[in-house]
Amino acid sequence: MELNSSMNEVNTGTPAISLEEINFQTMAEDAPVTLWLTDIHGNIIFTNNQYKNFIGREKVEKMGGKAWFNALHPDDRDYCLTVFKDAFETYKSFTMEYRLRRRDGEYRHFIDHGEPYIDGHGRFSGFVGSSTDITEQKLSEDELKKSHQELTQYNYEMNLINQLNSYLQVCRAVDETYPIVSYYAEQIFPDCTGALYLFNDKKTLVESMTTWGITDDIKSAPVIAPDDCWSLRQGKEHTTLDNDGRLRCKHVSEGVSNYICEPIIAQGEMLGMLHIEFNGAKHKVGEEKTYYVESRKRLVKITADNLALSLVSLKLKEALQSQSVRDPLTSLFNRRFMEESLEREIHRCARAQHGLGLILSDIDHFKKFNDDYGHDAGDLVLVEYANILKNHFRSSDVICRYGGEEFIIIMPDINKDHLVKRAQILCQEISSLELLYQNKPLPTITASCGVAYLHNTLIEKSDIIKAADVALYEAKNNGRNQVVVSETEFIDI
Ligand code: GH3
Ligand code: MG
Ligand code: MG
Repeated sequence: MELNSSMNEVNTGTPAISLEEINFQTMAEDAPVTLWLTDIHGNIIFTNNQYKNFIGREKVEKMGGKAWFNALHPDDRDYCLTVFKDAFETYKSFTMEYRLRRRDGEYRHFIDHGEPYIDGHGRFSGFVGSSTDITEQKLSEDELKKSHQELTQYNYEMNLINQLNSYLQVCRAVDETYPIVSYYAEQIFPDCTGALYLFNDKKTLVESMTTWGITDDIKSAPVIAPDDCWSLRQGKEHTTLDNDGRLRCKHVSEGVSNYICEPIIAQGEMLGMLHIEFNGAKHKVGEEKTYYVESRKRLVKITADNLALSLVSLKLKEALQSQSVRDPLTSLFNRRFMEESLEREIHRCARAQHGLGLILSDIDHFKKFNDDYGHDAGDLVLVEYANILKNHFRSSDVICRYGGEEFIIIMPDINKDHLVKRAQILCQEISSLELLYQNKPLPTITASCGVAYLHNTLIEKSDIIKAADVALYEAKNNGRNQVVVSETEFIDI
């Protein structure tokens, strides 16, 4: 109301005083913007109060025109001189942005507009200009730029996680995921070193399955006891940042101050953990560091959750697969798997012109053993026998429980002498097995082996099994605890 009435009193039509009466210098002095004027050579010949208050009146009085250059941010000086030089050579208006130190020492962002000043005779006489403090605008621009960068970075990382997921979903076994995890982890966490840990079958240890980043420099042990990791103990993420080591997990050696352990949990089951060392955090401080660490934490959690889902379904798949191909007592391959493998290996060896060996091994007088010591003691013997087989043969050999106390070992790419030797050593190892059952020693076990061999020929799988069976029968007849090699020679000359 007051404002309106006072405005009504202002007569905007006719000036109260004539323009000649106005003292423009005084007006410029008190103008609410920074104004300046140079001579033809670029010397500052006028600055107003706004400018003097900004730089500091004393400095301006002492240093004159040089006060402005002195207050310029050192990184902006060359740029400003170039713009000036150009303007004075071309007499063209110019705009430039720079940082200028306020009297309290703080640098503020300015934008200058300069116009050539032409005197009454049409001659260029210097530049007249204004300077505007654009610090707030600059800050919000920076803020916007930062948010945009963060969003772009987030989209990029989510895209990588989606790609990781799509590969994980088509994996057929847990092993297959390791190279995929390290490949993507390296991109998702570019300045980090890390490892994927999984529990062993007995859940007693957590083992590093794959690593990424500067792997030689990783500070976390390859095999760790679950109790040595705070994240596994708590079932939730554990982060240490620049601490003095009091909260460092035992599996992490000294020398790493920034790391995170994130448990991998699916359907309430702890499968392992992701361990990430933030090498990049060392060089960050304050807000930037907080943002970096918090965004890494979020990303580690998302990665661990995605991994958990894939790993749990792969483990289930593997368990089902293993149930269909493995014998539950000894965990050796079952008869069905043996038959499929034998078929495949006969063809492969015929193609590659390699030898193929088959050992049929049968425990001697096992019926009597069961009768004398009981079925459970018999089962113990079968498990220990299977363990000997697992340690005795190469990983490329296929070891199967053929039935009851009979085992078949398929040995691709082998020569006959070697095959017979392996079978003989196996018989010796079995006969030297010392077993305790309910703290009492069990008697010595022996086994007989029938061995058959083929080279460079394609035969029916039943033929080679039959040949080994005939040889085994002979070994039994000859007094057991021995190896007999089949007389049938499956050799194409
Ligand atoms: P030989 O020296 O001629 O091979 O005599 P043997 O008694 O071992 O042969 P036989 O084939 O007559 O007996 C095999 C025995 O193996 C019969 C069965 O009691 C035992 N057996 C088969 N499967 C299992 C099993 O899963 N656990 C136990 N404890 N015994 C088994
Ligand atoms: Mg038998
Ligand atoms: Mg037997």
